[in-house]
Amino acid sequence: MYQIMTAGPTQVRENVRMARSLECTNPDLDPAFFDFYRETCQLLSEAVNTENKALILGGEGILGLEAACASLTEPGDRVLVIDNGVFGKGFADFVKIYGGTPVSFVSDYHRPVKLADLEAFLEKDSDFKYATVVHLDTPSGVINDVEEISKLLDRYHIMTVADSVAGLFGEKLDLSNSKIDILCGGSQKALSCPPGLTMLWVSDRAFAAMENRKTPIAAFYANILNFKDYYENQWFPYTMPISDIYGLRAALDNYFEMKDTIYERHARIAAATRAALQKGGLKLYLEDGFSNNATAVMVPEGITDQEILEGMRKDYNIMISGCFDVLAGVVVRIGHMGENAYEDKMEATLAALQGTLEKKKIPVACNMAEAFRSELK
Ligand SMILES: *Cc1c(COP(=O)(O)O)cnc(C)c1O
Repeated sequence: MYQIMTAGPTQVRENVRMARSLECTNPDLDPAFFDFYRETCQLLSEAVNTENKALILGGEGILGLEAACASLTEPGDRVLVIDNGVFGKGFADFVKIYGGTPVSFVSDYHRPVKLADLEAFLEKDSDFKYATVVHLDTPSGVINDVEEISKLLDRYHIMTVADSVAGLFGEKLDLSNSKIDILCGGSQKALSCPPGLTMLWVSDRAFAAMENRKTPIAAFYANILNFKDYYENQWFPYTMPISDIYGLRAALDNYFEMKDTIYERHARIAAATRAALQKGGLKLYLEDGFSNNATAVMVPEGITDQEILEGMRKDYNIMISGCFDVLAGVVVRIGHMGENAYEDKMEATLAALQGTLEKKKIPVACNMAEAFRSELK
């Protein structure tokens, strides 16, 4: 088994794996499971400080993004796609699939979306039903201020769909200080569960928009409205993956146990990681908007991304991420979120990266593991 230090999925703690092996009831029929599911959803709402209803859908994080677009988009709807990263751009596809017209607001991939630029755009054109935005766009690692962005959009009567699959539980998000209508999360990033679940937080306004559609939602599995009254009706639209949800609950319990220190730990490790990489002479992809959960490093000259990944796997048993789309081959990424975000794991990762580069005769200006340690102090 490799030590996974990827930008998701992340490492899974033993108590989460154990929870997934508990004996199962029939989740369609047992009222106790409806109570358990609801309680788990209430914890999810508490985690982001909201009264909005949380839901857990059986499907990897992408399902949540698609479900948000499927449930809100009616044929002909104009949707603003805020694009300063690969996932940001990707929302346009979901909008199109469900008959909407995506209009992109493109901004520099090396930094967060600037509110003033977005406002200038909206001054000229604000006829959108909703907008999509990514909290942490993982290919670059950029973090966007989705709380403020959603408030700005709200002033123009535009609803917000925010993808925080890679942000939540490592990057603080206060939903009550935002106008986010559908927030999307996933199990396999900073929450440190295996992949398989989507979490959604849905505002009353978003539910009302779904209920007031002129045309039916063109999906079943991705229809959020099907979940709205699951508890009152004691009915789920499909059989819930009970073992996955047991695991999610254990991970949430872990989160609540650590919640007073978890964000500070992520921030500290992220800052020391960036400092160590730069002291080593490596270049970060971003100029601004560094996230606490993942760091994208430029692939230095004289080596390829694949050589870095392979070398670290083979010689050190450590796995980090490459990238895709416009960043394929340009950066490699270290995930320092959730169970990955511990000092000894990061130190080993930096040592492995250094060894791999030096083996290919790429000079590294300092001992990055040591630099990391001294930055932490
Ligand atoms: C991981 C991730 C998702 C889920 O997508 P996969 O690529 O299938 O893992 C969605 N949005 C963001 C920003 C992510 O990092």
